[in-house]
Amino acid sequence: MERVTGTLVHYAHVCPRKVWLMAHELGPDEDHPLLELGRFLGERTYPRERLRRVSLALPGAGMVLDWVRAEDGEGELLVAEVKKSSRLLKAARLQLLFYLKRLEEHGVAARGELRIPQERKRIPVELTPEAERELAAALAEIHALREQPLPPPPRRVGHCRGCAYAEFCWAESDLDPEEER
Ligand code: SF4
Repeated sequence: MERVTGTLVHYAHVCPRKVWLMAHELGPDEDHPLLELGRFLGERTYPRERLRRVSLALPGAGMVLDWVRAEDGEGELLVAEVKKSSRLLKAARLQLLFYLKRLEEHGVAARGELRIPQERKRIPVELTPEAERELAAALAEIHALREQPLPPPPRRVGHCRGCAYAEFCWAESDLDPEEER
């Protein structure tokens, strides 16, 4: 099975075209301001906590975990995913479930937490049977999308206004990506 990343899982809940573009390694604009904000939040928000950004290359899955911390005495990891707002909360939860599942498959006990520092929120995420079914459906969708020879056409969604692919998708269109669906 081809490699799936947490970022792909995240966008499975947002835009199928974006999944296709990323799966085919057509990278977005690296200078996009929202990408910069994401990096800043990841690096600066929790300076006093001894948490670390960790990149793991597991078979079939690449993971860059925002923060990982060993929980004292419980033999369990805390894996936190940091987001700039709760606007794409379902997508962020799916991404974190993907990480928890991959860690579980490699014998690592972990619990998840979504962190939205600008809203002062910490939301626990658990790998329940229902969550596993949801994750399996998203992975099946990603694999089906990747097999398509061409990307799905652009479809205006709320995420377009902040998407690093916006220029690519809408440059030659009369449609305004700023408009909501
Ligand atoms: S700009 Fe909109 S349609 Fe294009 S990849 Fe981004 S979210 Fe999808």
